[in-house]
Amino acid sequence: MSPEEFRRHGHDVIDWIADYLADIDRYPVLAGVNPGDLAARLPADGPEEGEPMERILADFRETIVPALTQWNHPRFLGYFSISSSPPAILAEALAAAVNANAMLWRTSPAGTELEQVTLGWLRQWLGLPSDYFGIIFDTASTSSLHAIVCAREEAAAPASELVLYCSDQAHSSIEKAAVTAGIPRENIRKIPSDERFRMRPDALEREVQNDIVEGRRPFCVVATAGATPAASVDPVPAIADVCQRHNLWLHVDAAYAGIAAISGTHRGVLAGCDRAQSLVTNPHKWLLTPVDCSVFYTRRPEVQRRVFSLTPEYLRTAEDPRALNFMDYGLPLGRRFRAVKLWFVMRYYGRKGLAAVIERHCAAARTFASWVAEDPRFELCAPVEFSLVCFRLRGPDEPNRELLDRINASGLALLSHTVLRGRFVLRLAVGNYRTELADLERVWRFLASPSG
Ligand SMILES: *Cc1c(COP(=O)(O)O)cnc(C)c1O
Repeated sequence: MSPEEFRRHGHDVIDWIADYLADIDRYPVLAGVNPGDLAARLPADGPEEGEPMERILADFRETIVPALTQWNHPRFLGYFSISSSPPAILAEALAAAVNANAMLWRTSPAGTELEQVTLGWLRQWLGLPSDYFGIIFDTASTSSLHAIVCAREEAAAPASELVLYCSDQAHSSIEKAAVTAGIPRENIRKIPSDERFRMRPDALEREVQNDIVEGRRPFCVVATAGATPAASVDPVPAIADVCQRHNLWLHVDAAYAGIAAISGTHRGVLAGCDRAQSLVTNPHKWLLTPVDCSVFYTRRPEVQRRVFSLTPEYLRTAEDPRALNFMDYGLPLGRRFRAVKLWFVMRYYGRKGLAAVIERHCAAARTFASWVAEDPRFELCAPVEFSLVCFRLRGPDEPNRELLDRINASGLALLSHTVLRGRFVLRLAVGNYRTELADLERVWRFLASPSG
């Protein structure tokens, strides 16, 4: 592709992105396709000869985009909704352009040092102590796997004897990570949560003591700050006491809600995390950064390095000891230049701008919850923590399932569900910077109208 062609197609792509973002709420939120529809429309074999960009771009617009569920849509309110912001989209293009691979300091001095600097800024914004060392991974699932592998290393006992604890509200990625790390499934304890869905430290203490008496080796507790079902925050200070007493690695999964700590109002979400050994939070969840960007912090980087620095001869460099090689701190060798999008976002919006988005989302969720609370047909099912509302029609589950299917099939909005204390519950999560109160009003009118 000649520079002139590149420039022309580049303008086309940027024009398309600008229109797409401006018109995003004209798309149905949930893609109106069935499994296999898209694959059936695409050739079974890859092209032998190259094709013109015009045709590829046209197919993208006409075939691919209609088969997308629109995560950028202001009424995408399922799971934990997220945004990719314009500055980060441009940064992604630049990262692809320079194609830096930050495996060693030498292979990308800028990639390595920008990652250290942005994660230092974020650490300060989150109010975490200065001995927290940060690294970017793709997802919280990967970050938590690294935490559990470090904890296993510290425990220095056969994996078959090790026991891990998390609450009954913890994310499935914790159990997956533990199993991947060789912890037997039957050695993963789901500690009961209290009436506000927070891990009960007294129950944790009892389980740990019981495992010790029975000859097993407790080694790691994963607390959640902002759990997926109802965004509950485990009592990390009390859990840290238990961990300290029994010398257990404390990892905090703050993938969604940890980011809220950048706003003074929500500082408390990470209370006690200065006593954890590690923590994960995802800028790709609530910090306007496109997937993927998960930040793993640990106060024990020497353990992380002990596990992951296996350096073959061809990767050895005789560098200044100040040169950090991120490949020594995790499973991946090749590492995308993810820091650049985080840097763009942090600089473009500033901490105050980002905190204002978080506050606006939380206020919108509280307003939606007040509408639910005022309607006698509905009930709130959990305290509204952050920007998540868990609610349902009073009575049996079936009408709730039908209501969820109806609104999602309408294309107006996407909501998700969970089960709390055995009951089917609708989840409405505000997390996109385009979401306005007017969007939630439309959703509420749909849900609350008898014919909706
Ligand atoms: C979203 C989420 C995860 C998983 O995040 P990925 O980055 O998709 O792996 C884990 N834990 C919590 C609490 C989450 O909200």
